[in-house]
Order: sequence, then structure tokens, then C-alpha cells
Amino acid sequence: MRLGSQPRIRLGNVPTPLEEAPRLRAALGGEAVCPRILIKRDDLTGLAFGGNKIRKLEFLVADALAKEATVLITAGAVQSNHARLTAAAARVAGLRAVLVLDTAEERPPVQGNVLLDRLLGAETRFVPAGTDMDAAMAEVAIELETRGEQPYVIPVGGSNAIGTLGYVAATLELLEQTVATVTAPSRLYYANGSRGTQAGLALGAKLWRAPWVVHGIAVSGGEPEKIHRAVRIAGEAAQLVDADVAVQSDDLVNDNGYIGPGYGVLTEACVEAITLTAQSEGVFLDPVYSGKAMAGLIGHIRTGQIDPDETVVFLHTGGTPALFAKADELVNALEQAEG
Ligand SMILES: *Cc1c(COP(=O)(O)O)cnc(C)c1O
Repeated sequence: MRLGSQPRIRLGNVPTPLEEAPRLRAALGGEAVCPRILIKRDDLTGLAFGGNKIRKLEFLVADALAKEATVLITAGAVQSNHARLTAAAARVAGLRAVLVLDTAEERPPVQGNVLLDRLLGAETRFVPAGTDMDAAMAEVAIELETRGEQPYVIPVGGSNAIGTLGYVAATLELLEQTVATVTAPSRLYYANGSRGTQAGLALGAKLWRAPWVVHGIAVSGGEPEKIHRAVRIAGEAAQLVDADVAVQSDDLVNDNGYIGPGYGVLTEACVEAITLTAQSEGVFLDPVYSGKAMAGLIGHIRTGQIDPDETVVFLHTGGTPALFAKADELVNALEQAEG
């Protein structure tokens, strides 16, 4: 195993805090019915409002620099956290960034991540929803090459073998933080999107025999292709670091029950999770990923799927700037809930 010899640049402020959430536990019924909850604060990875993509970008941008890239190209939804953090990482590394963002709107509001992309000076190309993003990025790459640039394409979510190493490394960090605790965490909950996080967490857990089961809560559809992707990139990542373990689809636990009407569409359970976590712990979740992941954890607790003697880690993957892009919808949902 040679994770340490992989090219990596320092972008994040790690280790991120691992904080106990006793008031959230109390709000969910207390010790008799609710497990102990620890929040792994990867919303505090530091750079440009933080989030899980920082860990992937430490490996991806290092690879870009090793290949003498001059510009990073990536893609995502209009409010992509990954795109914002790629733009910020590019600045730190002395590179330019071009973001291909899909949107159903003619002129998306300059709010949340779109505002931050602007402030970072990233070149943004809006494309219609449903565009083949890999093809769109390849087109931009050709255009930049003809201008004498050396482009480096990062797939949606940074979810390839190199990006996967971010959460392999994070697994080691979490093991170090929990090894001395009285009760080892038996589960790790987090939001599942493009699945690079899942691949890294699953590979890391298998590699170091972590005591926890990795529980993804999906925020978008796409099974079974997404499980196949996670298995594939986990396998490629294992090869990169000469690790002699294989992640199989059985290792990838995912719950599709909390997506609601679709990616980025608020659900009642998500709004409840956001307000409950804010009002008990002063911690902000986001409306697209971590809010739905927490809704999943809360749902599993309320339906008795988790023994109250267990310790659960909730991985907060960031995304908080999207709260501001959803201000009106959130306020409407709150007013409805209050009757
Ligand atoms: C991208 C993202 C995720 C999901 O990570 P994947 O590796 O794409 O599955 C979760 N939470 C937030 C806030 C994200 O931006």
C-alpha cells in the first residue's frame, strides 16, 4: 500500500473536527432510542467554504500539476459545490478554471455557488440541462488546446480513481480520531452523489478493517450504473496505491429512499433535518446533500434500524453555500411547516 507516495497538494485544513452532537441526540428522543452521534466536520475542510471535494482535489490538482496543466476543466449542476471548489483550488495552485454548468434556466441567479464562482473569476459556461457533460468538457479541452493551453479535465464530482484517494485518506484520519474512544462507531452515514466519496470510504474501510459499515443516502437516482461506477473507480484506486483488496457491490450500502422528487429538490424531511441540526447543534447542513443524508439517518433512527447503544458518525460533506441559493424555497417550507 503506498497512499503516501501519491502526488498530493495541501488544500484542506485537516484533520477536520469530530464533534459529538448530544443535543441532536436529545432532540431525537435521547439515549433510550437514539444512538450516540458524532459529526465529522468535512464542511470545515477550510478552503472557500469547504466541503468533501477538497479532499479529492488534493490528489487531482497534484496530478494536474505533475502533468504541467495550465487550466482545470470540470462540470456539474449550476449550484455545484465541486465546481466552486475546483475554481478555488485552481487559484491556490496558480491555474485557471473553466466550469461547464448545466441549468434549466436562461440566466441562473447569481447566488450561492454561482456567486462564489464569479468572485473566484472562474470562466463559466452554462449549458442546457441534459447535456452530455463529458462531451461538453472534451469540446472545451480541444478549444483550449488550440489556444496553446494544457487542459486537465476533472470529471463531475471529481469522481475518478485519483479523486477516490481523498476519502481513502480521510478513512485513516477518522480511524485515528476514533481508535481511542470507548465505543467504536459501527456506522458512517453520508450523502451519495457521483460516488467518489462512496468509493473512497468503502475502499478505506476495507483496507484498514474499519469497525463501521458505510451507509450512503442517495441524493439522486441512477442505480445500478452508479454502484458499478463506484466499484470500478474503487478498483482503479486500489491499483493506484497497490492495495490488495477489492471493493464489491455488496460492500456498497445505499438507501434511495430520501431523494424525494429529484436531485436538488427540497423534501420536508430535508428541511426538518436542516432546522433540527441548526437548532440543536448550531451546525448548518445543506439543502441538496447533507440535509438529505441527515434526513436518512433520522429516518433510520426513528424506524428503529439503529440500536441506541451504537455510535454513528455523520459525515458532513459541506455544500452550505447552496442554502442561500434556496432561500425562498426554504422560507416557504418553514412557513408551511409552521402552518
Ligand atoms: C459532491 C457532494 C457530495 C457527494 O459526493 P460524491 O463523491 O459526488 O458522491 C456530498 N455532499 C456535498 C455537499 C457535495 O458537494
